[in-house]
Amino acid sequence: MMQRRTRTGLPPHIYPPEEWRLVEKAFAPQYVAQMETVFATSNGYLGIRGTFDEKAPVFQPGTFVNAFHETWPIVYGEDAYGFAKTGQTMLNLHDARLIRLFVDDEPLHLPMARLVEYERAIDFRTGTLDRELIWATPVGKRVKVRSRRLVSLEERHLAAILFEVTLLDDSAPVVLSSEVVYTPPGQSENWDPRKTRSFEARPLVPARHESGGRRQILAHRTVRSDMRVACGVQHVVETSCPFEERNYISEDTARFVLAVDAKPGETIRLVKFITYHTSRSAAIGDLCDRAERTLDRARGRGFAAIEAAQRSHLDGFWHRADFEITGDIAVQQVIRWNIFQLMQATARAEGVGVAARGLTGDTYEGHYFWDGEIYVLPFLIYTEPRIARNLLRFRYNMLDKARARAREMGEKGALFPWRTINGEEASAYYAAGTAQYHINADIAHAIRQYCELSRDWRFLFGRGAEMLVETARMWRGLGFFSQRKGGRFEIHAVTGPDEYTTVVNNNAFTNLMARENLRYAAETVARVKAEDPERYEHLVHQTGLEDEEPAEWARAAEKMYVPYDEELGIHPQDDAFLRREKWDLEGTPKDCFPLLLHFHPLVIYRHQVIKQADVVLAMFLLNDEFTKEEKRRNFDYYDPLTTGDSSLSACVQAILAMEVGHREKAWSYFRHAALVDLADLGGNVKDGAHIASIGGTWLALVYGMAGLREVGGTLRFRPQLPTKDIQMRFRLTARDSLFEVGLDQEGVRYELLEGGPIEIYHHDEAVLLEQGKPMRRNGSLWSDGVPLVV
Ligand code: BGC
Repeated sequence: MMQRRTRTGLPPHIYPPEEWRLVEKAFAPQYVAQMETVFATSNGYLGIRGTFDEKAPVFQPGTFVNAFHETWPIVYGEDAYGFAKTGQTMLNLHDARLIRLFVDDEPLHLPMARLVEYERAIDFRTGTLDRELIWATPVGKRVKVRSRRLVSLEERHLAAILFEVTLLDDSAPVVLSSEVVYTPPGQSENWDPRKTRSFEARPLVPARHESGGRRQILAHRTVRSDMRVACGVQHVVETSCPFEERNYISEDTARFVLAVDAKPGETIRLVKFITYHTSRSAAIGDLCDRAERTLDRARGRGFAAIEAAQRSHLDGFWHRADFEITGDIAVQQVIRWNIFQLMQATARAEGVGVAARGLTGDTYEGHYFWDGEIYVLPFLIYTEPRIARNLLRFRYNMLDKARARAREMGEKGALFPWRTINGEEASAYYAAGTAQYHINADIAHAIRQYCELSRDWRFLFGRGAEMLVETARMWRGLGFFSQRKGGRFEIHAVTGPDEYTTVVNNNAFTNLMARENLRYAAETVARVKAEDPERYEHLVHQTGLEDEEPAEWARAAEKMYVPYDEELGIHPQDDAFLRREKWDLEGTPKDCFPLLLHFHPLVIYRHQVIKQADVVLAMFLLNDEFTKEEKRRNFDYYDPLTTGDSSLSACVQAILAMEVGHREKAWSYFRHAALVDLADLGGNVKDGAHIASIGGTWLALVYGMAGLREVGGTLRFRPQLPTKDIQMRFRLTARDSLFEVGLDQEGVRYELLEGGPIEIYHHDEAVLLEQGKPMRRNGSLWSDGVPLVV
């Protein structure tokens, strides 16, 4: 496939431009691994990598259920008190997508096959992965093969495959072997600390297998975490040709074989409904029953109805969440793919979080970090507030474990885990893990953003307040009023977002975010007390809140020490950062990035070199706390030190670059964020999609280009276009009102489409949006920028 450069200068990628699909026009062995990620289908509960229907070629036949994991004891060479004890790894489950095709007993094997036609595509509107090909068998018979795969957005336990075979020339015996295989994980050869771990013994053991008619069920359980899974398949056959069928089953394998005496022009149609049911507590028999019920229903409804429901779910989604770009189809395609991934990672993630790679791969072991709260949640708040609330509820469900962890770490309140699936801290490298106490403040920030924008005071006064109390308590205990700093409140021995500088004193990001956490907790408690005495009683009961605590938090917030360097006029990343030697980034060979794979941590830590936006991120999240000049100086200081070795960086750099007037840079960072996966910029897309960067792409558009900022729940836009070649139009939901924002060369247009009137700000002017009254504000959005066509 050709590498293309787009009109607006996106880095090259391999897909022909199309607005609503991502298409692979030829079978390309060199892209097999990365296409498994790019073509993955998922609903946030269940995810299947974009593997072929055939068994091979395959890089990783991944099927994941969010949060389904095995635990294992973390063994340290040198252990210490409080180190995380239990590793958690999301498991690769039964591979149920397999449908192997034989014509005249010759297998369809893409690397060897003569393909007369070929196209594979993921369609953002139908939510399906489609493949159509014409294969000329070794004796020259042409066979048309069409398949369509979906992971249902409507029924989260269900996936379905439609597989059609038509002989175009001659008759031939056609065999379809539809399989479900559980393969225990092997040992990984390539070292990369970000990847998932391998197990010495199989983590999933057989519990039951059942087969009858065209249905088969395999059930397994994990050895240590005692989780259970039942995977069931139901086949439906349609053909006018004579056929025979057989059914095989063993503990780890099920096979349904269809042998057809096929005639030319007669389509053989096989539908395979697939279901996964998982639980920590339900009995295996119960899970098998659930699988049966899902399969009964699917068979009753048929593939066409399931396909139609998928389409209508997505119609609703795009109605609320589309982001249109005119001027460059390739940019449009990239943006829609990114938004589609956000939908796939979250749509049915009920009671679970958003893993770093969603369900497209098991890098980072399927763990939840802060990626969900900081990078994905804003998109959900503005497009699917119900799912945003679910994510916060899911955090709340971890609160008891976070309380226990705080005790273990010698603190009051709650300390949320840096990385986890089940609520327990799973980061074995504390310097870049547990030390990221800012996770507490990130969660508090997310609660604030969600509650203020959606005005969900019920959530705030209940679960939200409880989390705020416990996180604020942790900060109050962690920091101290320092005599040497004139009574300022300092926080020592923490790591900020930049993992290339660890265990530092007064990380500016952490202190600023902790200040917001402390303040907001104190304000919220006062509000609950004044407005809802009953809920206040409940809060006191749940948390043992003492009367004097909120005032203490407010005092810590007021006295919070925020490092500032008068000479440079910038906020040092931490107390020691500016004293360190600068890393010679120019002189570092390109193949030594990411630095974390080529240098001992200590070598990195003793330099001024940044993995990902840190102070720059604080300036985005706490926009009001910095003057325009500070923002510019900080950005100009930190930007040249930032490697972007973490994919969480470019999107944030884009937003701030735009704000401080570096449009060309902003556009280039934006392109990087948007294409991390599609242009495989990190060389690791084969291991899964970078969900935070994908969320960050949306942030860069809405907060970077459209200049959205929220102040106390009020929306303010300061739109700018990064290049004169594009126009954009997107929709947001705020407080049940759906409105559209359009940016073009002459100005901005705001229009309320659904719901009651809503007031927004265009720069400093209040604008009331009412249905049927679009508002336009003229003025060039790019005139002082640089035209960026290449
Ligand atoms: C980043 C973290 C992030 C994690 C998972 C790491 O490389 O430094 O900030 O949470 O990846 O995406």
